[in-house]
Amino acid sequence: MTEALDPSRERLKHHFAQRVIHQARQILEIWQRLHRREWTAEDQAELREASLGLLRFAERFEQREHIRLAQQLNELLDAMQANRGRLNSELINQLSHLMQALSQTGLRQGDQLERTVLPPLRKPVYIALQDQEAGEQLARQLEFFGWSALALESIACVGAALQQCLPAAMVMDVDFAGRGEGLNLAARIQQGLENTLPLLFFSETDADTPTRLAAVRSGGQDFLCGTLDASVLLEKIELLGRADRYDPIKVLIVDDSRAQAAFTQRVLNNAGIVTRILLDPIQAMTELSHFQPDLIILDMYMPGCTGPELAKVIRHNDRYVSVPIIYLSAEDDLDKQLDAMSEGGDDFLTKPIQPRHLVSTVRNRAARARRLKARMVRDSLTGLYNHTHILQLLDDSCFQARRDNRPLCFAMLDIDHFKRVNDTHGHPMGDRVIKSLSLFLKQRLRKSDLIGRYGGEEFAIVMPDTELVNAHKVLEEIRQRFSEIRYPADPVSLACTFSAGLVTLGTQDDSQTLAAQADGALYRAKKAGRNQVQSALNAAPYHVELPVVDA
Ligand code: GH3
Ligand code: MG
Ligand code: MG
Repeated sequence: MTEALDPSRERLKHHFAQRVIHQARQILEIWQRLHRREWTAEDQAELREASLGLLRFAERFEQREHIRLAQQLNELLDAMQANRGRLNSELINQLSHLMQALSQTGLRQGDQLERTVLPPLRKPVYIALQDQEAGEQLARQLEFFGWSALALESIACVGAALQQCLPAAMVMDVDFAGRGEGLNLAARIQQGLENTLPLLFFSETDADTPTRLAAVRSGGQDFLCGTLDASVLLEKIELLGRADRYDPIKVLIVDDSRAQAAFTQRVLNNAGIVTRILLDPIQAMTELSHFQPDLIILDMYMPGCTGPELAKVIRHNDRYVSVPIIYLSAEDDLDKQLDAMSEGGDDFLTKPIQPRHLVSTVRNRAARARRLKARMVRDSLTGLYNHTHILQLLDDSCFQARRDNRPLCFAMLDIDHFKRVNDTHGHPMGDRVIKSLSLFLKQRLRKSDLIGRYGGEEFAIVMPDTELVNAHKVLEEIRQRFSEIRYPADPVSLACTFSAGLVTLGTQDDSQTLAAQADGALYRAKKAGRNQVQSALNAAPYHVELPVVDA
């Protein structure tokens, strides 16, 4: 737009834009409260008001996405009211989705407003590093992934930024602005705040226990040493900033008494925790694989199988070794309790139980299990899922795709002649290429795609809800772009390519056949000269809509 803009109209628009953001943040904050304590009627009323406010301002500012979300929220609140003001698993799931969508919306600028700069809805990430240049670079990389990130250069800048807006997370060098000063600054920041700020501490050298202790005391959620890698940092920030907040905790309740189970369910639902009840313990393994709970609550005595027996069976499966199991029983014999605990239980709660006690135990255990799992399933070099986990995810995705009758694609990538890279330029250069490809994949693929490091220089990608043609297009583009990257090296810069094998889920396939087929396609891509994508149904060119073919 080149025509002059009416300044008063501009100001008015800007006012509505600010209000849209304010209302949306308000809604997200009220939702957050549910994760700290049980929701009261006042919270619900406040949420309703904020949602009506959002609708009003979004309409004036013509934000279709926000209008839609506000209307949905109102409908969900109506449904909640019709449910006597109570949350249930369905409502929690829907509200969580909505909050997640809301947290990801940016403001689309009205046609008149092309040049007005609007603050992003998503809270920013602040980076306070001793090494300014490294900080700037990290900020740029995070922006690549949709975060607004700000590298701060002095204590004054930190203060000013915090005044402006509290961040989703802050990366703090322990030595920011002087030796050990980062820690002091962090402690001072946290003092004046109602909720502690999520901090990730960083130290260039390995830190001793007193330093780490000081970090924990000033609200440090994690401590990173050595070099700060964008992809690893990204995972940590996303963990702090998103996943935990909008992905409700899921609890499987195994109890043969419907009344008992319903009571537990009500208490947990009230605190925003999604639940599923299982009356027949024999169904537990099936239910576990479908529901994928964060935590299991077990009754001690059930017909057919006791709680401790079931715990043993669950623990026999590698996949569920780390899912917390909590017994909830009227059994008050300490010896029996201890026996049960030694069979793979993590905690023993006795009935009757205070709702508050139950909720906080479940929350703490589940949150810790999630953090541990996040560490266990990731590859340390790239921050991608590791071999075991990506295969598990493929398994789950196959199951879901078949259940919902949706397409699914799976791809395996392998860097071409990678041995030469190592031999010619050294192992660290090889590592750099691997990291760069993983960042590249994360950046180019959708959020819903799952990316794993399958082996040394091999990657695996699960693409839910994707037709083969589209998957092929995306991979082709990534292949093309990746081959254009030049890595500075002596005497000439280095370029790398990869080959890929792509398959789609047929009605008869399971995850193992899918992986084998992808491997076969990858092999063919290598044989055919590398630097290409081969589909398992390679008889048909990828730009033609492929018929559904049984395996
Ligand atoms: P092709 O095109 O057939 O895939 O040839 P290639 O050389 O890539 O394949 P090959 O499997 O023979 O060699 C893979 C090399 O990758 C061997 C191994 O040393 C190297 N590698 C595996 N993991 C890593 C890693 O984490 N870092 C580095 N720098 N190199 C790795
Ligand atoms: Mg290779
Ligand atoms: Mg290889």
